Amino acid sequence: MKKTFRVLLLASIVTVAFMIAACATDAGVADVHVTIPVDWVDTGTAIGQGSSGFVGGGFGLLGNLNVPATEVFQADIVIVGGGAAGMTAALEVLARGVGNIVILEKTGFLGGNAMTAWGGMAGAGTRYQPANVNHVEEMISAGLAAGQNLNNAALVRILAENSAAAVHWVNDLGANLVIAGAARMHSTPDTIAGTANLGGSIGRALSNAVREAGVPIMLNTQGTNILMDAGGRVMGVRALRNSSEVIDIKSSAVILATGGFGANRAMINAHSPRFSVLGLRSHPGTLGGGLVMAHDIGADILDMNFMTVTDTMDPATLITHGPAPRTSGGILVNMQGQRFSNELIGGEALAFGLAVQTNSRAYFIFDENARARAAGIFNNFYAAGMIRTANSVAALAGQIGIPSSALEATVARYNAFAVAGLDEDFGRATMFPLSGTRFYAMPTVPAVAGTSGGVRINTHAEVLRPNGTAIQGLFAGGEVTGGVMGYSRAGGHSLADAVVFGRIAAATAANFVLGGPGLTQRTEAVPQVQGNFSAGIHRGTARAHNGPLSVAVTVLGGNIVDIEVTEHRETSGFFEGARDSVVTQVIRNQSTINVDRVAGATMTSFGLVAAINDALR
Ligand SMILES: Cc1cc2nc3c(=O)[nH]c(=O)nc-3n(C[C@H](O)[C@H](O)[C@H](O)COP(=O)(O)OP(=O)(O)OC[C@H]3O[C@@H](n4cnc5c(N)ncnc54)[C@H](O)[C@@H]3O)c2cc1C
Repeated sequence: MKKTFRVLLLASIVTVAFMIAACATDAGVADVHVTIPVDWVDTGTAIGQGSSGFVGGGFGLLGNLNVPATEVFQADIVIVGGGAAGMTAALEVLARGVGNIVILEKTGFLGGNAMTAWGGMAGAGTRYQPANVNHVEEMISAGLAAGQNLNNAALVRILAENSAAAVHWVNDLGANLVIAGAARMHSTPDTIAGTANLGGSIGRALSNAVREAGVPIMLNTQGTNILMDAGGRVMGVRALRNSSEVIDIKSSAVILATGGFGANRAMINAHSPRFSVLGLRSHPGTLGGGLVMAHDIGADILDMNFMTVTDTMDPATLITHGPAPRTSGGILVNMQGQRFSNELIGGEALAFGLAVQTNSRAYFIFDENARARAAGIFNNFYAAGMIRTANSVAALAGQIGIPSSALEATVARYNAFAVAGLDEDFGRATMFPLSGTRFYAMPTVPAVAGTSGGVRINTHAEVLRPNGTAIQGLFAGGEVTGGVMGYSRAGGHSLADAVVFGRIAAATAANFVLGGPGLTQRTEAVPQVQGNFSAGIHRGTARAHNGPLSVAVTVLGGNIVDIEVTEHRETSGFFEGARDSVVTQVIRNQSTINVDRVAGATMTSFGLVAAINDALR
């Protein structure tokens, strides 16, 4: 049986019933974050090792292509994964005129991690921020610093440059993001455009928009294989519906938006065992299956040993505490009522220090003065039910099951350090004595809250093989990709990543399906020598065969890392070959001297080189 989604939408009673059921299941998603246990998925599945050292997590049995599908569907584009990146891609693809699409989501609800993400979504140069700051450069610096320069600088630049539009776009869909303050690794106080209680607002705005747009959604449907034709071109997805039915969805393009592997204990342990002491807080669907599917068809997988650690997070709601409870004056104590760290160090050092305490759990203890110093944030935590309060330290200890004498002694010792201005135990620099008649406690745990590794993409969100060539018809965005974050993510960069690269993947895929410029023929060029150019995006124009041709040349760290032809009138069929050849040579050699012109498109090649020279002048 072969069906198209368009026909299904109009005519198939079965499918309409299915979709109504799907939407009904989806409607309950908003509160999913409140009932999650500490390690909500610990697969313990078998491990299979790929040829490139990539270690997958026991998905082999699902991927048997010899079994015939019980049903075959037809779509232009299949989007695998219904998180922020997948839903964004669906909406963008529709906006670009490709209507015959479907989202496959393995769980019973849409939204992915965007339903719990709390800290914010980075946007640089939004209409909410002052115009006198170069937020794009600030966001790039934050991204590279958090990534310890192990990320792909060209992808970080694309992320930053498109982040403002992404924030505006989700707000136009009703996400309600506003300036909320500085975020991790950022140096300006207005980098983040997230509401104080962002949790779920992006996920809800996107899932509402997807439903309103009538995008066909198959819930409880797990993509297991990317189908390929004999020429190495993507031709659809095989999936497992309701854990038992094997279905094929034939398509011209596939957008992979399956998120990371933050819920797969086996895969994390295999790639980076040092994180094994931390709890896992990612969405239960993020088991890395998308990586296995992509790896199976030859995609390059990178940075699998990098994760983002959240040092302190509420164990019940998954709301990240951020630095405010510490910087405003709170201390951290373990279940014995003792401090165990300089609270202000934060990051991985604090997370790993906390992980070895009893039950990997600690409590923030703070007083009314500390609460008042960060009232807005504490009010949100209070409203979310995260804070206990009492009128004495001893009474507070009783509420949270900590020996009262131990907590009183710890507070007294800390207060003496605060008065003396010297923390003899842990060297904390800024201290405020805890005093008064109202004290507060908040439980906290450290966690892995995301993975940085994934499929290699270029700036057009095309999925690349290890040799840099694009897999025709396969595109990816969001946490399933590697290279955007590097060692760790800066605050708000992951939601920005999902929306920015979800949109870019959609634009490239739509272009591909609608027969636009053949982006997938391009090879990712890597500099072979160090360049000596000034950083920024330089624009230039020159005359080519049929008229003016304009380029945007991106320079990072002295190197030309990307050359976009932004406008041209050259003849399709001749132009693409000349462009790919010239761009690759210039990036590899960091020079426009001695560039081989492409036979049959000599004037186009000359024009392109002249435009690049004009940009770099
Ligand atoms: C607790 C927490 C707090 C966070 N806070 C922030 C924050 O404040 N700011 C920020 O920028 N980032 C934050 N993040 C990270 C951010 O939420 C994610 O990086 C982002 O939402 C990823 O979006 P995505 O669509 O790429 O993937 P996901 O949200 O992971 O969605 C992937 C979807 O694909 C589905 N799927 C997986 N495999 C398959 C398959 N084979 N077939 C079909 N479906 C599949 C999954 O079930 C899931 O629904 C946080 C993460 C966590 C865990």
